[in-house]
Amino acid sequence: MNLFRIAIVTIGDEVLNGDTLNTNAQWLSSQCVRAGSIVVEQRTVADQPTSITAAIRELRQITNLVITTGGLGPTHDDHTVAAVADLFGDQLVLHQPTLEYLERCARERGRTMTERLRRQAMVPRSARVLPNTIGTAPGLLFERSDGAAVMVLPGVPLEMMAIMQTSGLPAIATAIETGGYDVVAERIIVTAGVPESELAERVEPLFEQLSDRIDVAFLPSDLTVRLRLRARGSPEQTHVLLDTAIEKIKTAIGSAFVSDRNEKLVEILQRECTQRSLTLAVAESCTGGMLGSEITSVPGSSAYFLGGLICYSDAVKIYFGGVHPETIALYGAVSRQTVEELSQYVRSAYGADLGVAISGIAGPGGGSPEKPVGTVWIAVADSQGVTARCFRFGENRATVRSRACAAALLMSLERVKSL
Ligand code: ATP
Ligand code: MG
Repeated sequence: MNLFRIAIVTIGDEVLNGDTLNTNAQWLSSQCVRAGSIVVEQRTVADQPTSITAAIRELRQITNLVITTGGLGPTHDDHTVAAVADLFGDQLVLHQPTLEYLERCARERGRTMTERLRRQAMVPRSARVLPNTIGTAPGLLFERSDGAAVMVLPGVPLEMMAIMQTSGLPAIATAIETGGYDVVAERIIVTAGVPESELAERVEPLFEQLSDRIDVAFLPSDLTVRLRLRARGSPEQTHVLLDTAIEKIKTAIGSAFVSDRNEKLVEILQRECTQRSLTLAVAESCTGGMLGSEITSVPGSSAYFLGGLICYSDAVKIYFGGVHPETIALYGAVSRQTVEELSQYVRSAYGADLGVAISGIAGPGGGSPEKPVGTVWIAVADSQGVTARCFRFGENRATVRSRACAAALLMSLERVKSL
């Protein structure tokens, strides 16, 4: 099987020293895999010309394409262009469109054109320039008859991503197609409500019926398990393989199935609410706005999300969240009664179809024998009444909070689907 093989070289002392998290490599890998190729290696090297050329030279032996990020800028520690030019015995030549672009940028920003800036328009003779429309240093693509291609991208994440999207990924797609390579295609099934081990019991017996060109991986995170299916073959073959596998797996997992698109829970909730013209408001205690933040991280959330109340203290729950003082005195702030009242109040006060309330003990302090750290009550109020549930999410504060959000999304989703 002939797959298009890619290696990613991250260039930068800041990454090696741990000052910068290497998000570029992660993003590039995910995009390359999505484009149908296989990433065979990621390597991080210092801002040293010899380290850069050695890594590219070596990785070209085992790949069809080497992508580098970083070290493209105009400062003394940016060596990538010179290193690649040296590797290919290329002279640097002036790239007129880049120079004009840089001059225009300088003019628009009221800056003078410096020698240092002009240097950014000098590119190795055999490179194809991949324009950078948000920064100064352009990307470069070397398509070589003597072996693997090399793509050189800036280190600044937004610039790297923009160049990749407009020129890099299309170039990879063309190379895969014209080279007649097989592809790796991926689909994700989102499941919820069934633990990984039980899901495996349901799905693993199917493996024998699935083609050996399909791999299935279980990816658990906050209350959901994603099943990642990967198929190898021609684009048409992978399509058929994945469709067949997904149908079988969907049947096997039954009610745990949530979506067969690669979506986050919050995206699914947005889709389901928007389709039904339902609106939602939240009242958050232990999550302190996290749920609202997650909901509004998705573009288009205004179509269904009205707003929320962060009611962290008892007083705010009472004065702004409609909770009766006796309720808190009798049952406590983390109780069925409190979240029920909060959810109903926020639903009516905000004029929403669904009111969601979360109150829990995120820890590390504040637990008791009856209500240990990790106890979270969640309620969803809608036109049919209120549904409330108690969860135990363990002792880690961050986990309790993120699971509380996931549970609130799942409970809302369940209610929305029944309305
Ligand atoms: P510049 O024109 O800014 O010099 P460059 O191509 O030389 O661009 P670098 O100097 O290597 O890029 O990095 C610029 C900034 O981009 C770094 O300070 C860092 O914040 C970010 N960055 C660089 N490499 C990575 C990476 N692998 N992952 C995430 N961020 C990165
Ligand atoms: Mg730099």
